[in-house]
Amino acid sequence: MIVVPVYNMILAPNANIYFSTPQVRRCAGDKGLAAGERVVLIVTRDNESYRDLTPESFYPIGISGEITEINNQGYVVIHTGYRVNVENIEIGLDESIRLSMSRRYDIDDMTKSVEAEKLEGMLDEMRKYAAGFEWADSAEYWLRQIDSLERAACVMSPWMDISNEERYAILAEDSRTRRAELIEEALYGFMEVGRITNEAMSSQQEEHQKMYREQAIKRQIEHLQKELDEMHPENVSDIQKFEQKIATSGMNETARKEAEKVLNRLKQEGSQSPESGMLYDYLDFVTGLSWKKEEASHIDLEKARKILDEDHFGLNKVKDRIIQQIAVMNLRKEQSGSILLFVGAPGTGKTSIGKSIARALGREYVRVSLGGVHDESDIRGHRRTYIGAMPGRIMDGIQKSGVSNPVMVLDEVDKLSASYNGSPASALLEVLDPEQNNTFTDHYMNVPYDLSDVMFICTANTTDTIPEPLLNRMEVIQFTGYTPIEKLSIAREHLVPKSMEAMGIAPSIMEVTDDALRKIISDYTMEAGVRGLRKRIDNLCRVLAVKIETEPDRKVIVTPEVVDNEIDARPIQHSRILPEPKAGVVTGLAWTPVGGEILYIETMFTKGKGETIITGQLGDVMKESARIAVSLVKTLFPDKAQLFAENDLHIHVPEGAVPKDGPSAGIALTTALSSLVTGHVVDPHIAMTGEVALRGAVTPIGGLPEKLMAAERAGITKAFIPVENEYDLKDVADEVKEKIEICTVSKVGEVLKAVGILAASGTAA
Ligand code: ADP
Repeated sequence: MIVVPVYNMILAPNANIYFSTPQVRRCAGDKGLAAGERVVLIVTRDNESYRDLTPESFYPIGISGEITEINNQGYVVIHTGYRVNVENIEIGLDESIRLSMSRRYDIDDMTKSVEAEKLEGMLDEMRKYAAGFEWADSAEYWLRQIDSLERAACVMSPWMDISNEERYAILAEDSRTRRAELIEEALYGFMEVGRITNEAMSSQQEEHQKMYREQAIKRQIEHLQKELDEMHPENVSDIQKFEQKIATSGMNETARKEAEKVLNRLKQEGSQSPESGMLYDYLDFVTGLSWKKEEASHIDLEKARKILDEDHFGLNKVKDRIIQQIAVMNLRKEQSGSILLFVGAPGTGKTSIGKSIARALGREYVRVSLGGVHDESDIRGHRRTYIGAMPGRIMDGIQKSGVSNPVMVLDEVDKLSASYNGSPASALLEVLDPEQNNTFTDHYMNVPYDLSDVMFICTANTTDTIPEPLLNRMEVIQFTGYTPIEKLSIAREHLVPKSMEAMGIAPSIMEVTDDALRKIISDYTMEAGVRGLRKRIDNLCRVLAVKIETEPDRKVIVTPEVVDNEIDARPIQHSRILPEPKAGVVTGLAWTPVGGEILYIETMFTKGKGETIITGQLGDVMKESARIAVSLVKTLFPDKAQLFAENDLHIHVPEGAVPKDGPSAGIALTTALSSLVTGHVVDPHIAMTGEVALRGAVTPIGGLPEKLMAAERAGITKAFIPVENEYDLKDVADEVKEKIEICTVSKVGEVLKAVGILAASGTAA
């Protein structure tokens, strides 16, 4: 018996199989070949050379047969009999193969009539197929010999583009019905491929034809794609691209498994399925993330400081704190330190200094805006079962940065709000928690990612609306806003050059004078930061660009007059000092999330029966302040107490003051009421801030630097502040302290004396 190993051939019972004579002769060894010789064909798993074969190289099922023809054109015909289980394969030193075998029976589950019908259909198809080619005549000779589907499969085997496993599956199938189906699938598929290639026949409408056709097209596409890829290695198909990326991305074990699972699904579904878009997006996202740990590099503090100074004027306290943080990171060889929270009015440079920090550290920068975020999934992502699922903003930011250790600015953490969809603040807490964030799991990604090297910086206008646990995790750094002199320097050194460059105006053809900048600052902006200033400067440059374009030879000098004439904005109506001072009206100072403001506390008596009416933006706390003020004034001026009983008292605090800031209006309220009852007019150039207790003691307030800056802007010359706020004066700009006479007071009586309501020797309030 001759054992012949075969690879990539369809073997089936009762068929003629053609071999080249040398191939069979080699297996026969010394025996030589003769017609009638018994043969067994066994299938190798891989395309191995004869010499490398081992007993493990073979599949367990083969087929027996006999040589029916050895012809002189160089081929041998073997007619197959029944299928066999092969065992105990041994390969001799002379490379001859020995084995034992037993017959493997078919499951005869196909009736003769079905078999005949199937064969008939197949032959019909084959005839039609062959008709499209010029060798149709010779095909007829072959077709006449085909008396079973199995034979058809063996005859066509050499031309079919199916794998070795698929071919072996036909041999290994016990059920005759199932085997027939496998053969039909392969043959119809094959003919469809031929058809498409030749475009010889019109498409078949029958359902199963359509399916075979689809498969054939897929195969054809795969085949063409392979060829294309070989021609253009840069265009490797998506699947290959993802395979490569998964292999090289350095993903952790869980992530790799998940990505491979999704990739397998993408392979199975094919690019036409409705799911494929989602699967593609997922793979694109996770493989686009950087999974590599970046080296922590030592940062030169001096250089870092230089970069911070280059990008931003002033902000020395902030820059000092950042340098300290970098020093600590250097010492601890860490890439992130404590989480900084920059708090201040808009346009004070909170976000842009974050960018500058990234530059100083030589790291990537990414900004994630949290304003208006109210779903937990905005932070942590949507589960992928959800249509239109997306990663959360944190992971999205990481992906955009392209690294695992960016400087990430989380903007507007004070604008997070909770909804029925979970609290984004608690999700953020997890992001910022160094104990947990090395395995942060975004719902969309569904695998952990290490955020511990990310340097987080948060920004906010106010700390009031930040939940306590979140606030506790961060270190607050105040951005107090800029004085007009600081704004001038910022405008001259940063904003004007940047704006001119953006508009394509060369420094040689335009000059902006300091007076012009002062004019813009004082008359066209009113803000703690420089955002509005920047807009005005941009606007001016844009207007002037037209002039420069039409008269290119004339140098444009921007003076205050040019500003007034050209700027496309109305001058600000400053709430400056009241033109007509009145009894009962006093200037107060308020703090708002966008900086300080001056405001007028207005009081008035109207005919009535002792009711108090409060209007304007007053919170409950301020209402209490008003009650205390009324009681205080009644005791301070007992002879005037009657007025409160005979009239209604109306207190109005115009808009602008934020309800929250109520308490600090205590001394202004008391002074206004004192002025009202005594008729003594208080100079509106005098402003005051401080809370008052029932016994007249003045208690401290917050936001002093912003308040005094606003006072300076408005032209206030004297300000009363609580004595306990004296410490905060170190944060107040010198130019403000120079322009305003600042008086610290511990009792409200001191204010009343200083403004002339109480005689210097009067009641000790
Ligand atoms: P915030 O985040 O506090 O609202 P931004 O960082 O967006 O403010 O700053 C607004 C603009 O003002 C930016 O163009 C920024 O470069 C500029 N800016 C703010 N402060 C300074 C400064 N100290 N020096 C130079 N430019 C500044």
